[in-house]
Amino acid sequence: MKKLQSYTSLSEAIRDLFGNEKSIANKQPVFGGDINTACKITLNDQTALFMKSNRPDALPNFEAEALGLETIAETGCIRVPQLLGLGTDPEGYAFLLMEFADGSHCRPNSSYWSQFAENLANLHKHDVHGAENALGFGFPKDNYIGHTAQKNTWHENWIDFFRDCRLAPQFQMASGYFEKTDHRRITHLLDHLDQYLAEPDAPSLLHGDLWAGNVMTGSDGTAWLIDPAAYYGHAEADLAMTELFGGFPRSFYQTYQACMHTDPGYADRRDLYNLYHLLNHLNMFGSSYLGSVQRTLRRYGS
Ligand code: ADP
Repeated sequence: MKKLQSYTSLSEAIRDLFGNEKSIANKQPVFGGDINTACKITLNDQTALFMKSNRPDALPNFEAEALGLETIAETGCIRVPQLLGLGTDPEGYAFLLMEFADGSHCRPNSSYWSQFAENLANLHKHDVHGAENALGFGFPKDNYIGHTAQKNTWHENWIDFFRDCRLAPQFQMASGYFEKTDHRRITHLLDHLDQYLAEPDAPSLLHGDLWAGNVMTGSDGTAWLIDPAAYYGHAEADLAMTELFGGFPRSFYQTYQACMHTDPGYADRRDLYNLYHLLNHLNMFGSSYLGSVQRTLRRYGS
């Protein structure tokens, strides 16, 4: 994988990528993200770029996001915005620069969601054996889910990975919210995870944070993935997250099921996979998510 070019200023990046004649004509805020400041940069020749920025210490977050996007792009299964560069500007911010995904001129296509489902299933079925940096369940770099650090230490088994790198660290962070009964249920759940989950035949490359806000229409009119928290895991974990906040249209699920066999009992496993994201929301946004976490714990934790 080619290393993404790192720059010491935004203007250096623009000069290097587009030539000395090009300069920034306009910067326009883009809303919708939770974590970073986002903007559309228009150059003097009307080229549009997308830039995320944050405090200088956010550079590792951008490096991790870039590795996720590059790894997904390399499979050739599904589009992501093309990465251009990253760096820290002397004005005091870290940035990640990429292609502007502009689907505004595209007419909605009736096969949009089924095409997306097919591409996602292809990503999940993509043979990662022998892929550079795919050593089981995990990822070559730790990354972030929202602004929570996400451990990706390599594991041979999916269930061990999901316990050690997903549920346990989130439970630990949230421990102040829980009462004695909750703690007992958490211990039970972590000790008996293999009763509820199953090992996949092989690891799949996952987007890792697959809700509707991270799917957008690109300039070719198809659904592109943005803002991944990528890792190698069980494909069901990605599918589960699509259902957490409202779900995608029916045609998405019909096509996904047709392309990718899902084992019986998925609906029970789905709620355990989504427990990870509910815990993360509890840790990021506070006690309004406690009730949902406790509901899941009551089902699995005793
Ligand atoms: P955050 O890291 O803060 O969560 P996002 O990656 O979600 O930020 O991006 C914020 C918003 O910017 C998204 O909701 C989306 O609308 C838009 N966006 C993200 N990536 C691009 C892109 N490559 N081109 C155009 N718009 C984008």
